[in-house]
Amino acid sequence: MQIKRLRLTGFKSFVDPADLRIEPGLTGIVGPNGCGKSNLLEALRWVMGETSAKSLRGAGMEDVIFAGTATRPARDFAEVSVLADQPGDEELEVVRRIERGAGSAYRINGRDVRAKDVGLAFADAATGAHSPALVSQGRIGAIIAAKPAERRAMLEEAAGIAGLHVRRKDAEQK
Ligand code: ATP
Ligand code: MG
Repeated sequence: MQIKRLRLTGFKSFVDPADLRIEPGLTGIVGPNGCGKSNLLEALRWVMGETSAKSLRGAGMEDVIFAGTATRPARDFAEVSVLADQPGDEELEVVRRIERGAGSAYRINGRDVRAKDVGLAFADAATGAHSPALVSQGRIGAIIAAKPAERRAMLEEAAGIAGLHVRRKDAEQK
């Protein structure tokens, strides 16, 4: 799966509609502190179904909605869309929208779907909100500083075998 475009409206600091084309060869995004680089990665994780507000540096999920500044009023919704090429299949467009007091709604290629369907669409392509390919700021340092057992747990998670341990424990108890 190749992600081609990320669109944001009212998501965190991206109050005005922003359209990010992700073309082959893009290796980095640079900009001053606080310009929104991490917010872009969080938007990608969010549209893929992230459920943890804390991992998006918020207290509640509505904290992803533009909260206003001295000169601009807050918004009452946030929307992120991601467009991806799927080998041998049609393009995949996933949209997630959150409104204050109304929670999140998802669409895949224009159809209303459940959060679970979005998770499955990305899991089929071995990616998603918890893909080990998405490394949040500070995580590299955390891996280096981790105790061996913690580091092993992180590596097992990245290798996709963490679930096997859970199932083995479960089997041993039977
Ligand atoms: P650094 O180089 O320090 O890592 P960065 O480019 O990664 O910076 P981000 O962390 O993506 O920057 O953006 C932080 C900015 O986003 C802050 O100015 C913060 O106020 C703003 N921000 C975060 N959430 C919201 C929100 N809900 N509404 C408005 N602004 C927000
Ligand atoms: Mg950052």
